[in-house]
Amino acid sequence: MTTEIRQRDVVIVGAGMAGLVAGVRATELGADVCVLEKGTRPGGSMYLSAGLIWSYETIDDARENVPRGDPELQRTIVEGLDPAFDWLESLGVTVREPPVELPTGETVVAPTPGANCGKIEPEAFTDRLRTRIEDGGGEVLVETPMRSLRTDGNTVVGVDATTADGEDLEIEADAVVLATGGFQGNERLLQEYVTPAIENLWLRANPWSTGDGLTAARDVGAKTTGGMETFYGHNLAAPPANVTPDRYLELTQYYGPFAVAIDERGERFTDESESDLEHTLAQDTAHEADGRAYYVFDSDLYDDEVFSMGHIGTIVERSADRGAEVVRADSLEAFEEKLYAAGVDGTNAVETLDEYNEAVRTGCGDRLDPPRTDYQRPVDTPPFYAVAVQPGITFTMGGLHVDEGGRVLDERRSPSTLFVDEGHDESVECEPIAGLYAAGVDIGNVNNRHYMGGLANALVMGRRAVESAVDDRVE
Ligand SMILES: Cc1cc2nc3c(=O)[nH]c(=O)nc-3n(C[C@H](O)[C@H](O)[C@H](O)COP(=O)(O)OP(=O)(O)OC[C@H]3O[C@@H](n4cnc5c(N)ncnc54)[C@H](O)[C@@H]3O)c2cc1C
Repeated sequence: MTTEIRQRDVVIVGAGMAGLVAGVRATELGADVCVLEKGTRPGGSMYLSAGLIWSYETIDDARENVPRGDPELQRTIVEGLDPAFDWLESLGVTVREPPVELPTGETVVAPTPGANCGKIEPEAFTDRLRTRIEDGGGEVLVETPMRSLRTDGNTVVGVDATTADGEDLEIEADAVVLATGGFQGNERLLQEYVTPAIENLWLRANPWSTGDGLTAARDVGAKTTGGMETFYGHNLAAPPANVTPDRYLELTQYYGPFAVAIDERGERFTDESESDLEHTLAQDTAHEADGRAYYVFDSDLYDDEVFSMGHIGTIVERSADRGAEVVRADSLEAFEEKLYAAGVDGTNAVETLDEYNEAVRTGCGDRLDPPRTDYQRPVDTPPFYAVAVQPGITFTMGGLHVDEGGRVLDERRSPSTLFVDEGHDESVECEPIAGLYAAGVDIGNVNNRHYMGGLANALVMGRRAVESAVDDRVE
């Protein structure tokens, strides 16, 4: 086996949303850049996404909705989004104002009220950014995974990678930006942090994000965040539904926060409405219901729409066409019986519905245990439905602890009292690891249980991380 040695100013690890953005920005700043991509194509999970680049309009909204993230980092993303949209337009990328049509045919305004939102076409976007990097003198090497970081003392000085031909590739660089997209593709790490029952999780993401950035950074002393068990995702139709990457969007249920979610014992296990975006419900389905739940609702909800994510009946029928288990009954008696046939304690389920209906009819859902704080509408208009769902993990939220410039903090030189829940303590200096940066999902201190957009973080922090790398080099 031969070892090829190259020198670059900046190496970017991962050619997904954050990595491609970082690569383009690096060429604009005059850096000699190499973007390594483990997969067979660039684009990462962004390539599979709905392409809605969104975050909250204001930092106050972000704090209210995502209270456990780092306030300064969140501010960086919220305030950096409009300039980043302008920057994309300057590259010739059309960032369309919603409403826009999704690949599933639905028309989308914004994923949640109060969002600042633009829309890209993932495939064209990926091609455009890759071409910009190459035209700017950089390179994007697919099927070339980083294996580890190279260090000189406490400083990161490059990466070790493997080429598409299986040869060793050593790249010496002033800076490395990790943009490997989290660890949801790694069964061992999922079992360690998220749930022992990984067989009851769909992977709703690219298959190559297996925590390589996290592992390599930890090996050189990087500080990690809390919230390692939390993830962004949705509940999808459960097996026997056939969920493949081209169907992630069409089999995502979205309407969980409006339904009643029960487990196989027929009991509610969480406040379904804690988040409009279904991600807290998906996490609780994994953690509290062993990865198997049923969304129960009536014909009123069936005929309704989820904000802008489309007609609920259409989502249900589409799921049924793909093999999802959908129980439908014209009376509660028949519903109870059919639930038993589906493996759910039907008597308990109907009792749960009675109790729920009584509470929400008088606006007292918050007195239920678990409470129902929002969308308090009774389930009482036949036919009744139950759709079997299983959580799909799109990305893990915990990860590397960075500063507002995307510099990865050093575990050995950061106070152990600094928790992500509390944000930065301004009075304590945290030292970064020289030469090491992160962007996108690899950053762990933006989201924690709650979520403020995935593509927006990757867009804003992809740019920021490279700008910091170039600035730090000059100083
Ligand atoms: C179905 C679906 C719908 C979505 N819809 C939206 C949406 O509308 N809005 C939104 O904000 N977010 C959405 N997301 C989430 C969004 O796609 C991610 O938040 C975003 O792509 C994260 O960007 P990233 O660069 O951090 O990771 P990714 O885009 O996933 O890129 C990570 C890249 O790193 C590569 N990599 C991993 N390990 C290595 C290694 N060792 N060496 C080299 N390369 C490596 C991977 O192959 C991958 O290409 C959606 C995701 C999915 C799957």
